[in-house]
Amino acid sequence: MKPIPFSNRYVNLGKDFYARTTPAPVPEPALILFNHVLGDELGLSDTCLNSPEGTAIFAGNRVPDGAAPLAMAYAGHQFGHFNPQLGDGRALLLGQLAGPDGAQFDIHLKGSGRTVFSRGGDGRSALGPVLREYLVSEAMAKLGVPTTRALAAVTTGEAVAREQLLPGGVITRIATSFVRVGTFEYFSSRGDLDAVTKLADYVIEHEYPACCDAPQRYLAWFEAMIDRQAALIAQWMQFGFIHGVMNTDNMSIAGETIDYGPCAFMDHYAHDQVYSSIDQHGRYAYNKQPSIGLWNLTRLAESLLPLLADNTGAAVEAAKAALSNFARLYEGYWLDGMRQKTGLETRLDEDKALIDELFEVMAVNHADFTLTFHFLSGLSIESTDRDINARALFSEPEPFDHWIAQWRARLRREGSDDEARQARMQAVNPVYIPRNHQIEAAIRAAEDHADYSVFHDLHAVLQNPYERQAQKDAYMQPPEPDEVVHQTFCGT
Ligand code: AMP
Ligand code: MG
Repeated sequence: MKPIPFSNRYVNLGKDFYARTTPAPVPEPALILFNHVLGDELGLSDTCLNSPEGTAIFAGNRVPDGAAPLAMAYAGHQFGHFNPQLGDGRALLLGQLAGPDGAQFDIHLKGSGRTVFSRGGDGRSALGPVLREYLVSEAMAKLGVPTTRALAAVTTGEAVAREQLLPGGVITRIATSFVRVGTFEYFSSRGDLDAVTKLADYVIEHEYPACCDAPQRYLAWFEAMIDRQAALIAQWMQFGFIHGVMNTDNMSIAGETIDYGPCAFMDHYAHDQVYSSIDQHGRYAYNKQPSIGLWNLTRLAESLLPLLADNTGAAVEAAKAALSNFARLYEGYWLDGMRQKTGLETRLDEDKALIDELFEVMAVNHADFTLTFHFLSGLSIESTDRDINARALFSEPEPFDHWIAQWRARLRREGSDDEARQARMQAVNPVYIPRNHQIEAAIRAAEDHADYSVFHDLHAVLQNPYERQAQKDAYMQPPEPDEVVHQTFCGT
């Protein structure tokens, strides 16, 4: 068996950045799933992680040779309020290494026990949030959205006390980086400019190497970060994904979706949809995500000011100029993505109005987000024969018929070919997303009956979200009225 080629870098930043912590063992570790495909891609298949010993490692009962487990320090704005000290309270960075392609990645355990950052918490995770994060993060990856990945999930044989006793679990996550906006806020709020600089250099070297030699490297990096976040949030919007808790400690510096808590994909379209039980005022509603992204980036800018120019006035001007690009970048990514979803190849000024109108019609009729675009992908521009499935999603089809007529006219103007357009649209409009009621069913079966078959079946379908699979139509369907999940929970 090959050793895991750890090359831990974060530990070199110095002890202010973390607390070295070993995971707390659990009584009865049992593997639910090891992600073999990801393990292969990362060059981990021939290591102890892909062996019975792997289960002990994923549960925190054994620390593999070469690992340097540590809890990362960070701060964060939670629902707008600054908390100067958060940190990994129930997670650990097990170690860092490079895959066969040379790209660096970090391995994290979540649910691995208490750390100095646990505050009042038990450092544990219930099984439900572990299964939810596994399903949703892997579905996001297969949809093509930048995200942390799930490498393994285990049960612990130990109950965790939430509102009731629940079975415990640990998820092993992979990310390009676990540095967050809140990591910068942690040092900036302490007035530790040396640490802010060190962290920025670390991030640039490992995550933004193209900025290394830029004349104003910190500004160049900040601009690149803005670009990545604009692209990421535009993708969330294109799948009806609601992160649910976009606190600055849950915004990754690498531009990946991170910290799957009360996240959800919406079924029927509502522009201000909220699922998170803790988001009482809708701060992180679906349509607020772009502006919250910008708000978080503004907090990052405040932490970076001393690096952006020689004096505060110039730094503020530079930050403002960079931040002022966010809206344009976001709109551009969003509109291009929506053109792809609606099959438009050329760019016309009128496209935004056409797409906005579709969302308006969807909202009024509570049309299912995913199925609307799925059925739209199969339509012809010359014949209305196949309109029936799409029309059925709209309680009052007339406004939709009106929209479809405009859409067909727009496609005719660019000489759109049915077959080619359908193929393009089907490649970006999924058939399957992890719907809340299906995730809930997977969790219920696992928690209540130790039955993982529902989880495994759902996970298997989500591996190919763009391909209609035989006998899997049930996974396409929105919930029946009695299956609707109205609230999701972060499970902390
Ligand atoms: P989250 O809502 O998962 O982003 O977590 C916010 C903060 O609370 C982070 O610092 C977590 O480490 C911490 N936290 C969440 N749940 C627990 C727990 N069960 N035990 C200790 N710390 C926790
Ligand atoms: Mg978090």
